[in-house]
Amino acid sequence: MRFDILTVFPGYLSALDLSLIGKARQAGLLEVGVHDLRDWTTDRHRTVDDTPVGGGAGMVMRADVWGKALDEYLVGEGVKILAIPTPSGPRLTQELCESLAARADRIVIACGRYEGIDARVAEHYRTREDIEVLEFSLGDYVLNGGEVAALTLVEAVGRLIPGVVGNPESLVEESHGQAGLLEYPVYTRPLDWRGHAVPEVLTSGDHGKVARWRRDAALRRTAQRRPDMIRALNAHELDKDDRAILAEYGWLWPRKPEPFSHPVRMLIDDSPDPGEVAALAARTFPDACPPSLPADAIAAHIATELSEEKFAHYAADNDHQLLGVRAEGGPLLGYSLVLLPSASRPPLAELAGAAELSKCYLDASWRGSGLNALLLTAALDRAAHAVGSGRIWLGTNAGNKRAIRAYERRGFELAGRRTYLVGDEPNDDVVMVRDIDVAY
Ligand code: SAM
Repeated sequence: MRFDILTVFPGYLSALDLSLIGKARQAGLLEVGVHDLRDWTTDRHRTVDDTPVGGGAGMVMRADVWGKALDEYLVGEGVKILAIPTPSGPRLTQELCESLAARADRIVIACGRYEGIDARVAEHYRTREDIEVLEFSLGDYVLNGGEVAALTLVEAVGRLIPGVVGNPESLVEESHGQAGLLEYPVYTRPLDWRGHAVPEVLTSGDHGKVARWRRDAALRRTAQRRPDMIRALNAHELDKDDRAILAEYGWLWPRKPEPFSHPVRMLIDDSPDPGEVAALAARTFPDACPPSLPADAIAAHIATELSEEKFAHYAADNDHQLLGVRAEGGPLLGYSLVLLPSASRPPLAELAGAAELSKCYLDASWRGSGLNALLLTAALDRAAHAVGSGRIWLGTNAGNKRAIRAYERRGFELAGRRTYLVGDEPNDDVVMVRDIDVAY
């Protein structure tokens, strides 16, 4: 592959004599030519710019000078790319660099300065069938010139050419590679440095465990730093452990219908709209009732206990904590209601002074997705912040084994029984309790 870089500061590109790219050039794996754009000027001052047509600040680089220079290098057979760095271009990505490394024969880089290059240069070369014009940006900031972007492109594409990086395996697990994740943190000796020890698993010699640790660390790092990359992951390529890690950061998939192809970011809503909560409550409450319960008793309970007015009261009252959970920008998918000790009337004397998890319901399509754990964790966390160290109790229908098991998994233990009225119908509930504290 050959790069030709056109610039008014050729000295800037001398870094390309160094390190792996310098060695690759010496070894003939890569050719790089650096050319002074002013060599194509004809006036005494070697002028490459002029004032902007239409007025405005700064100077613009002339199309005629650029045209003469570029014509000289955009020649020959094979795939020819004219790369024009500009902050207004699409972002340069690893994927694009991989594609260039795989198929380009010649890349000519036009380094702009001042206010940039006359727009007709890109426009003109786009009309040429034998040339691909690639405008690209390094990121959302403005540099003084395109030379840094040229260095970047040569290095990012050049290192993917076979033989340039000594050990090709080091390219496999890198950030922005096939896995779509940032790379896991890396360590070397000394194993203990200023009180910071290398994670123990990495010295265990257990390759399976090391691989899993690295995968988890890459997922965590990407979830914390680059949510846009998590959103782009293919859900079908993630295993159960991957999903469990992402769930901790609020990234989930519904169980039904068929899993989405990408993870969905869930957000806790600390002040859900009471009307939206009431509508969700009316939809989800019947699922928690035993089949024997008459429909009119359920309807009466929804009308009196799960009305918009009730939820508006809970939302406004300091003794109640109403929470919602939704996909970013989407409808409410779950809600919880905690009664602080001052509002709770526990059915067992030994629960005096405990907070109460009065409601925790999810839209049917999201049950089994991990959303329940996310909502419950948020509800317990907020309750703990309000009461400090204490306990929280709940009642759930004794026949609802799925709910009982789920609460057991979240640390609740059976404490006794109570009778709970739905409409006028008495129901047998189990009462469960667990500790909470601020560190939860
Ligand atoms: N007026 C231009 C604009 O606002 O889009 C900025 C011109 S900039 C001062 C001069 C040159 O620096 C550009 O023509 C381009 O070659 C280079 N440049 C600046 N920021 C860049 C970025 N983020 N990515 C790639 N090239 C950049």
